[in-house]
Amino acid sequence: MSDVSKGLVLVVEDERPIADLLRLYLSREGFGVQVERDGLAGLDAARRLRPVACVLDIALPGLEGTELCRRLRADGDWTPVIFLTARDDEIDRILGLELGGDDYITKPFSPRELVTRVKALLRRAAVHEEASRVRAAGPVTLDPARRAVTVWDRPLTLTATEFDLLAHLLSRPGRVFTREELLATVWGYTSHGGTRTVDVHVAQVRAKLGEASRVIRTVRGVGYTADA
Ligand code: CA
Repeated sequence: MSDVSKGLVLVVEDERPIADLLRLYLSREGFGVQVERDGLAGLDAARRLRPVACVLDIALPGLEGTELCRRLRADGDWTPVIFLTARDDEIDRILGLELGGDDYITKPFSPRELVTRVKALLRRAAVHEEASRVRAAGPVTLDPARRAVTVWDRPLTLTATEFDLLAHLLSRPGRVFTREELLATVWGYTSHGGTRTVDVHVAQVRAKLGEASRVIRTVRGVGYTADA
């Protein structure tokens, strides 16, 4: 049994030498690996085992890899999927909206390259998850995916910049952000001329938060922090 600390990768591939190679390389990297050689068994394993990523061959007995992926997506399952394909002309289709594949690699391929792709895909998925995580401090809740803020469950209207500023402060409650840092991450530039724009926007956000304004605390001489 491999170490599953990095999570389980499901490999659905009917060519045993390729499957064995993938198992070897992925498990060396610390992934747990489940291999299925039939598309239907693969679909069942994906639903049952909830892998962190799927590596799907396309031409499979039982159910094609593309159909397997389409059925997962139809279930609302957006587990990252990398397709193994022998044909360049399939690429547009497998990465298209209908099938929702995340990446592909053409056969013959280097197993090392496949492992690199799996890791990159998981990194991207983690960044996305972090960015879309709902944040809260005291009575304030912020949902990045919906770009919505509520205070004591009442919706609050913020400008785009005010929203991004609050989202950044709430990304790590308790952490102190310097004005320069906020300017660089929220406004996307650094200023030698000063950081007054940060203070002005913080004041505007506080005014809109009303009684909840204390969730943004000024750290004298440093910057701002969100109190959990
Ligand atoms: Ca095959």
